[in-house]
Amino acid sequence: MKIDVLGCGSAFSREQNTSALRVMDEANRQWLIDCGPTIPRALWQRGGEVNDIDVLYFTHVHPDHCTGLTALLNYWHSLSRQKALVIYSQPQQRPVLTQLAALANWPQTTLCFDIDWRDTTDAWTWHDWHIQTAETRHELTNRAIRITQGEQTLFYSGDGCPTAGSIALMEGAALAFQECASLTALSDDASHGDFPACLALFQQLKLPALGLYHCNDAILHDLRAACQPWEGVFVSYDGLQYALSNLPGTAEEGPA
Ligand SMILES: [Zn+2]
Repeated sequence: MKIDVLGCGSAFSREQNTSALRVMDEANRQWLIDCGPTIPRALWQRGGEVNDIDVLYFTHVHPDHCTGLTALLNYWHSLSRQKALVIYSQPQQRPVLTQLAALANWPQTTLCFDIDWRDTTDAWTWHDWHIQTAETRHELTNRAIRITQGEQTLFYSGDGCPTAGSIALMEGAALAFQECASLTALSDDASHGDFPACLALFQQLKLPALGLYHCNDAILHDLRAACQPWEGVFVSYDGLQYALSNLPGTAEEGPA
């Protein structure tokens, strides 16, 4: 499994793309997890083919995680994509996404490829990918995702404070990404992750690699310094490429 960090920024970051990941398997099947406003350009910068991405998964529909959908669908339509696209979302959040999709070729109501809208559930299988999702605590219901292919497991929190359910999905992951909005501890009812809690999870779960992301620009410098003593804990960055071929995963340097 290969992981391509398209973006790891907070909603209004001046330095980073909005947070999203591309996940690829050996057969070059590809998932895009979240698609905020700056993600289409990040994909275009990578080149690739119009039919490359098989599946979009939305953790939740806050604008910084979904409003790139319109431009991406418009681009694929313009380039005559043929492959049907699968989009997983929480069913109650789908009306937001169908409106974004409707704008992609407005006033026409169809695209030149089909969209297969599917409900996010607790667990399902796609090809040989085993998917599990669980709620974090966030202003809007957010579902963290765990993807396992063979012996390789990736965890991605989406937004929100870890919960017992999301922590269970993080356990055993070779690579985990956790939203971390604050360098210092947030209140017990906060709807975001913070560094002390992330570090505690890293130690408790003995995670080989924990990437912190969706951090406000203002804390990036100090957060990198706070991670320094902990081998395996790092501040994620746009362009990071990660290959999970054996345990632990190996980072291939991307642009810092
Ligand atoms: Zn959010």
